[in-house]
Amino acid sequence: MLVGEAPGRNEDLQGEPFVGAAGQLLDELLGSIGIARDEAYIANVLKCRPPGNRDPKEDEIDSCKGYLREQIRMIQPEVVVTLGNFATKLLVPTEMGITRMRGQRIEWWLGATLIPTFHPAAALRGRPQVRTDMEEDFALVAQALNDRRPAPEAPDPVQSSLGLS
Ligand code: URA
Repeated sequence: MLVGEAPGRNEDLQGEPFVGAAGQLLDELLGSIGIARDEAYIANVLKCRPPGNRDPKEDEIDSCKGYLREQIRMIQPEVVVTLGNFATKLLVPTEMGITRMRGQRIEWWLGATLIPTFHPAAALRGRPQVRTDMEEDFALVAQALNDRRPAPEAPDPVQSSLGLS
């Protein structure tokens, strides 16, 4: 599950999250760890676009957070990736900014692993290091998902010695 900030104008018009350049980057990052967009659930902190694409305000976040909570409870995600400061600060009690929060696996609510990373729009503002950091963070997502898969069953040693396998 990915949690962004708020829909932009095109997202509001099309009723889909991350449809522009930031969405394309998100698809590439997911693709780099073998995940298609339709295998991930994408939610946002705010459920509609703030006027003029400004930052979300506290009362707006308060109005929307119950919906996000229910989305999380219904989806029961194995891994939650928070994209940027707003999603991270809502879901993890911290005063630290995203630059310090990213790159770690946090054991979280409902048994999920939470991994904070930058908002993809930040990688499109001409800072190549942000994309590199996001690639690293998505590699952590792959690791976290992998660690949750049950290990392949070891062969039964008794059965093997009896020549039954
Ligand atoms: N940015 C977001 O944070 N969410 C979207 O859905 C689109 C752009």
